[in-house]
Amino acid sequence: MSAPAATVAALAKGLAAGEYSSVELTRAYLERIAAAQPALNAFVTITSEAALAAAAAADAARAKSQTGRLTGVPIAHKDIFCTEGIRTTCGSKMLANFVSPYDASVVAGLRGAGTVMLGKLNMDEFAMGSSNETSFFGAVHNPWDTTMVPGGSSGGSAASVAARIVPAATATDTGGSIRQPAALCGVTGIKPTYGRCSRYGMIAFASSLDQAGLITVSAEDAALLLGPMSGFDPRDSTSVERAVPDYTTTLGDSLEGLTIGLVKEFFDKGLDATNEQRIRDAIAVFEKLGARAREVSCPHLPLSVPTYYVVAPAECSSNLARFDGVRFGHRCESPKNLLDLYCRSRGEGFGAEVKRRIMTGTYVLSAGYYDAYYLKAQRVRQLISADFAQAFQSCDLLFGPTSPTPAFAIGAKFDDPITMYLNDIYTIGANLAGLPGMSIPCGFVDGLPVGLQILGPHFSEARMLNAAHRYQQETDWHLRVPAAFA
Ligand code: GLN
Repeated sequence: MSAPAATVAALAKGLAAGEYSSVELTRAYLERIAAAQPALNAFVTITSEAALAAAAAADAARAKSQTGRLTGVPIAHKDIFCTEGIRTTCGSKMLANFVSPYDASVVAGLRGAGTVMLGKLNMDEFAMGSSNETSFFGAVHNPWDTTMVPGGSSGGSAASVAARIVPAATATDTGGSIRQPAALCGVTGIKPTYGRCSRYGMIAFASSLDQAGLITVSAEDAALLLGPMSGFDPRDSTSVERAVPDYTTTLGDSLEGLTIGLVKEFFDKGLDATNEQRIRDAIAVFEKLGARAREVSCPHLPLSVPTYYVVAPAECSSNLARFDGVRFGHRCESPKNLLDLYCRSRGEGFGAEVKRRIMTGTYVLSAGYYDAYYLKAQRVRQLISADFAQAFQSCDLLFGPTSPTPAFAIGAKFDDPITMYLNDIYTIGANLAGLPGMSIPCGFVDGLPVGLQILGPHFSEARMLNAAHRYQQETDWHLRVPAAFA
């Protein structure tokens, strides 16, 4: 068994053919995780014992022919998803001791499909960040160059898939946290349509933007895993009641006649020139496959960063009010009174970026500023959604870069929040409009990966996955493994 080359699709086949057992596979990945942990810091918690027990159960089920496609395939979860009996930290000191009494619906869905959980992946604190430097558990390192950031907030998910220490990982995307780290680590990321996957048990950052998704080696792997984690959930009032297709059945569809919109505002002066060349090369591959590219404009898209940085902090200031040191999470030592308990527990439990967001959010929601900031941001959000709707009148998919530059050095932008926020300039629009989005590897600049972003209309995951898969059949960027982890 050669772990580095393995995709979920290949591992599922190997398990079905009896080439190895799930216990053997799981043990091999646990060894790779342990060996890589000092260099990458991709995991917060490694659940070796539970993983081996689940793998043994998968092997036993297989012996009785009670199997699905994913039975015994190891994966890992971003530490934002609650996992019964195993701590869920959300990258924060606030939840460093929190053990959830239940599984998030996404976790339960993937467990039900037979996957084996290897552990919980590091992330920016409460998913706030674009570099995975805000984690209480320390920065995650990019496997292509360990002095570089992996992107964020799902940096642990992206780094571990890139280094092939896990076959696939769950992740979440509020403003780009699946697509941007996928781009910076040279792996495939998909953020489904808002409402496609249940948010139940996924620790809330900004509820109208948060969406669960995947980081995988290939689009085919994403198609295999997306089904079991999708669908209506009565415990999440925003999950959508709509049938979940088998995303693997349309992977072979032709791209003949597909219209690709190149969003003018995405190819602006902020985009690194070499980065842009890689994107243009990728578009040429799609054209060879029968797609037609045309320019479209989404004139309000340049307003997405300021709009997001009003809406997301507003929602986070409300969501994070529950961490008060009373019910669960960090509590300060010997509080003098109730106010002291609240102030010191929150002061000690949250890191600087989370505090910055809570303060911004509280400000924009306060009387007198609500109309000027929050209400205005909600209006602009509508305009951005309308721009996308207009573009999809004439295009099947929209293409652009995922991030303005490849990975940057750890520490380079950490003290400059505004510069950091600009990393998500191309990804945030999809969250504001609730659209599905992907990032797929499309080349390298100075040895660092570059991602192509694909956006589609609501619930067009099958179309996006099909397009990404056809591209990946023509190219091998997604199969490249960093030398240190080959
Ligand atoms: N980087 C963005 C932020 O810091 C997006 C984060 C996310 O998608 N969770 O808010």
